[in-house]
Amino acid sequence: MSLADQLTRENIRGLVPYASARRSMSGGDIWLNANESPFANEYQLDSSVLNRYPDFQPSKLIESYASYAKVSKDQVLASRGADEAIELLIRTFCENDDQILICPPTYGMYAISAETCNIATKKVPLKPDFSLDLEAITQATDKVKLVFICSPNNPTGTSVDHEQIKAVLDIFKDKAIVAVDEAYIEFSADNTTAGWVNDYPNLAVLRTMSKAFGLAGIRCGYTLANKDIINAMSKVIAPYPISWPVAQIATQALSAEGLDRMQSQLQQINAQKQIIVDALDSLDYVYEQVPSDSNFVMFRTKAKQALFKALVENGILIRDYSSQIMLDDSLRISVGSESETQALLNVMTNFSGN
Ligand SMILES: *Cc1c(COP(=O)(O)O)cnc(C)c1O
Repeated sequence: MSLADQLTRENIRGLVPYASARRSMSGGDIWLNANESPFANEYQLDSSVLNRYPDFQPSKLIESYASYAKVSKDQVLASRGADEAIELLIRTFCENDDQILICPPTYGMYAISAETCNIATKKVPLKPDFSLDLEAITQATDKVKLVFICSPNNPTGTSVDHEQIKAVLDIFKDKAIVAVDEAYIEFSADNTTAGWVNDYPNLAVLRTMSKAFGLAGIRCGYTLANKDIINAMSKVIAPYPISWPVAQIATQALSAEGLDRMQSQLQQINAQKQIIVDALDSLDYVYEQVPSDSNFVMFRTKAKQALFKALVENGILIRDYSSQIMLDDSLRISVGSESETQALLNVMTNFSGN
């Protein structure tokens, strides 16, 4: 055993890191595996401030996001992606025997972040229709300090019913923070729970610039919550989490012009999604697809391995979820540009099914 291995914390030694799309797959020239936007937009950079440390929370950025999300400025914390917000919640609220509760199949980083902090994860699987199992959650509250609900959920694309989210907030009232991960909320804007932060002291809403805004490369996300939760997380976050270039770019993306552009790109993505959904409907080897409120589509096929391989051979990367709980035979396609959709469907319609 190397010295590093000997000295590594025990919970880290056995940890398998998150198999992000970028880490686990390389090559290919059409990336439909990380739910990114196909649009790369242009931004201005003012380098005259780069000799100075950035503001702890750049004020224009926070104002812009608060206005966009319709919350007040003291209800927003910007972080290095929503991923950092997930970790901050765990580090701020969980210790020793505390646990997080998740409802798989869902986003993989909740459990991995908890593991790096030596916090146990309690799993209450979704029901077969991908709704929450409220009875099981009610039975599972012991030791739970933090609950993650992903809506729209990655990788299923399904939204959680508002009544169900309210029920979870009530079950954990006075007991645990409920984090609603809204990474894909722009694709289902009416479903946001951001407006509830005034009514539920245990609600934290997670957001990101990585998906609809097309800014996965800058690493910028937000937590929306009442100011007491924000203040607690502010004690844990790094002193200068948002660099000036990130703040400048994200602020431009949230300007009136930036928001218009995001909305128009969102419509283009939705149009491509519809084309993919219709095509999947017509393919004999696809036996189910899940209606999606997001920028990706999950479907089931017995020919998952052969199809995946055929796509890779044509430089197209999608994501295989078939080894996960409740996701037998499931593949997920992120919606890309018009030409990417055509390349994808060209392979998929010519694929024979075995
Ligand atoms: C992509 C994604 C994130 C991560 O967002 P970043 O802001 O890029 O860190 C968080 N949650 C879900 C559900 C996601 O799909």
